[in-house]
Amino acid sequence: METVRVRFAPSPTGPLHIGGVRTALYNYLFAKQHQGTFVLRIEDTDQSRFVSGAEEYIGEALDWCGISPDEGVEQGGDYAPYRQSERKDTYQQYAQQLLEAGYAYYAFDTSDELNAMRERLQAAGKNPQYDTASRMSMNNSLTLSEEETQKKLSSGAPYVVRIKIPENEEVHLNDLVRGEVKVDSSTLDDKVLVKSDGLPTYHLANVVDDHLMKITHVIRGEEWLPSAPLHVLLYRYLGWKESMPNFAHLPLLMNPDGKGKLSKRSGDRFGFPVYPFNWKDPQSGEVSPGFRESGYLLEATINFLALLGWHPGSDQELFSKEELIEAFSLERIHKAGAKFDIEKAKWFNQQYLKEVPNTVLANYLLKDLEEAKIESSQEKAEQVCELMKERVTFPHELWSTAQYFYRTPEHYDEKIVKKKWNEEASAALSAYADALEQSNDSLSGEQAKEQLQQVMETRGAKFGKVMPALRLAMTGQGGGPDLMSTIEVLGRNEVVKRIRQAVDTLAATINTN
Ligand code: GLU
Repeated sequence: METVRVRFAPSPTGPLHIGGVRTALYNYLFAKQHQGTFVLRIEDTDQSRFVSGAEEYIGEALDWCGISPDEGVEQGGDYAPYRQSERKDTYQQYAQQLLEAGYAYYAFDTSDELNAMRERLQAAGKNPQYDTASRMSMNNSLTLSEEETQKKLSSGAPYVVRIKIPENEEVHLNDLVRGEVKVDSSTLDDKVLVKSDGLPTYHLANVVDDHLMKITHVIRGEEWLPSAPLHVLLYRYLGWKESMPNFAHLPLLMNPDGKGKLSKRSGDRFGFPVYPFNWKDPQSGEVSPGFRESGYLLEATINFLALLGWHPGSDQELFSKEELIEAFSLERIHKAGAKFDIEKAKWFNQQYLKEVPNTVLANYLLKDLEEAKIESSQEKAEQVCELMKERVTFPHELWSTAQYFYRTPEHYDEKIVKKKWNEEASAALSAYADALEQSNDSLSGEQAKEQLQQVMETRGAKFGKVMPALRLAMTGQGGGPDLMSTIEVLGRNEVVKRIRQAVDTLAATINTN
C-alpha cells in the first residue's frame, strides 16, 4: 500500500468546533494506524471570513487533544507552505490550464446580472443557478467572441473563472463510508474556481493542494459530499484522475434530540460546550465555553469523540489513544448522523477521572481551596480526592461537593434531620464525643469505629440509628463517602467539635421530631 497521507484542512473562520476536532481525530487515527502522515493545512483563501485568533486556536486545540500534525504551518514539511494564502501563485497556473483546455471559462457578469438571472429562472420554476442550462444566456467567454473576451480582460474588467460542468454525465465517486455515489452532472452548477480578487475558491485550492501534497485519503465532514462530484471532475480535468485520493465523508453530528445539526447555538440551548476549549470572540468579547474549562479530561473527550460516528465492532467502550489507533477503521464509520449525547461524555469523564492519581487531582482541589482562601496540606487534599473521585464527574466538583472536609457545616439537611436526629442518637453522639476527647490525637478510621462500637455497646444503642446522625453532624448531609474514612480525614478535634455543634444546634428539633 502507498504511504498514507491525510490532511485536516480547516478554514480559520472561527474557533474549531468539536465536530472539527472529531474530523481531525479520525484523520489522525487513520494516519497513525498506517504509519502515515497527518497534515494540517490552513484553508484561508476566503479573506472576507478571516477571524483573528482562529488559526492559533486550531493549532492549540489539536495540541491539547494530543493529535498534533506531522506537517503543517508550524511543523513545516516537504510540501510547505501549508497556508493557502501563501500559495496563491500555485493555483493560478492550474486555473490557466483549465481555461486553455476548455474546462473552465471567464465570466464577467455583474451582481445585478446574476440576480436577474436567478429571478428569471425562479419565476420560470427552474433551478436558479449558473449551469449548463443558463450559462449560454450570460456574459462570459462562451457567449462572447474571442476578441470581445480579450478586450474585456485587457481593459481590466472584473471577472471570475468558472468550471464548465459537462452536460448529462453521470459522475461516479466511491466513498469509503457511503459506497458508490452517483450524481447527474446537470444538477451541478458552474462553480467559481477563481474569484474576482484573483484568489482561488475552496474547490480549486483544495483539489490542487490535495494533489500536490500527495494526499491519499480525504476524510472530512458530510457537508462536503455535495462538492465531491465537482472535485472528481476537477481531478479528471487537471489530468490527475489516476492519483485521485480516496474519499470518506463522516456523518454529521446531530443535536441530542436528533433534530438538526450540532451548532454553536445547540451548545447554548442544551447547555454544553461545543468547542474544545474556551473561545473568546475577538469582536463581541463573548466567551463560549470549552470542554477543557468545563472539566472534561482530554482522554475522556477523545474517547467520546472517537465513538461519535464510529463503532469498534465490539462492546468495548473505553479506549486509550493507542487502542483507538489500533482499532479504528473507516469501514466501521456509520452513515447515519451521530447524536451528540453529552450524558455519555460525562460518563466517560467519570470513568477517566477515577483513574487519575490523587497527586494530580489534588492540584484541582488545592486551586479551588486557594481561591476560597482555605489552607490545606497536599496530604489532606489527596485524602479527600481519594474519597471523592468515584463520586464526582468533574474535577471542580471535588470542591463543590466536598466542602464539608474544610468547613464545619452551617446547615443541616432538614429532611435528614427530621428522619434521623433524635434523643437516642444525640445522646449517643455526645457520649462518643466524650470518649474521643479521651483518646489519641491521631485517629484512624478503624480506631474511630472501634470507639463508636464501644460507646454504643455500653449504651445499648443501635448502629443503624447512630450512624446517619453522625454523618449528619460531620457533613450536614445524608450521603457521602465512607463515614469512618471521612472522620479520619477530619481528625479527632474537628470530629468532636462537629458533634458538639450538631447536638447544640439540633437540640431544639428533637421535641418536634
Ligand atoms: N476548508 C474546508 C473546511 O473548512 C475543508 C473541507 C475539506 O476537508 O475538504 O471544512
